[in-house]
Amino acid sequence: MVNKEIKIAFEDYQTIDQLNSADRDLCMEAVKALDNSHSPYSKFKVGVALRLLSGKIIYGSNQENVAYPSGLCAERVALFYWGANHPHDPIVSMAVTAHTNDFEILNPITPCGSCLQVLAEYEKKQDRPIEVMLYCQNGAIWKTCGVQCFLPFLFFEERLK
Ligand SMILES: [Zn+2]
Repeated sequence: MVNKEIKIAFEDYQTIDQLNSADRDLCMEAVKALDNSHSPYSKFKVGVALRLLSGKIIYGSNQENVAYPSGLCAERVALFYWGANHPHDPIVSMAVTAHTNDFEILNPITPCGSCLQVLAEYEKKQDRPIEVMLYCQNGAIWKTCGVQCFLPFLFFEERLK
């Protein structure tokens, strides 16, 4: 038996001013996406912005439903919209932010496992990693170079294609 260890790397920014202008702009686009969140049950708004290679921005926000499982996370709303409408314009980066009036969010929020699996699928499909920025409006911004940082053992099987 051998003990093995996997390390992940990410960039930790203390304020949005420390980001380059393209990343800063994308974080602000994610804030705009919060406005269209439909979250009457959790009252926890999540906003996502995707920047495509062409420069186009795609927005997503969480869409809840009275039948709870029928809702969908902001990340997958944006990613599935991309897949349905712009699959030949690769995603370069994704910014995610959140807001609630119920408490102060002090750390970046991270995508759920299902959203990460969808992100992994589209990284493979476009053969290019997707940078992910997790923007806490009251705190730090974490920037990763792609889904590998979140899911080092992600499920993918080329032979299923
Ligand atoms: Zn999710």
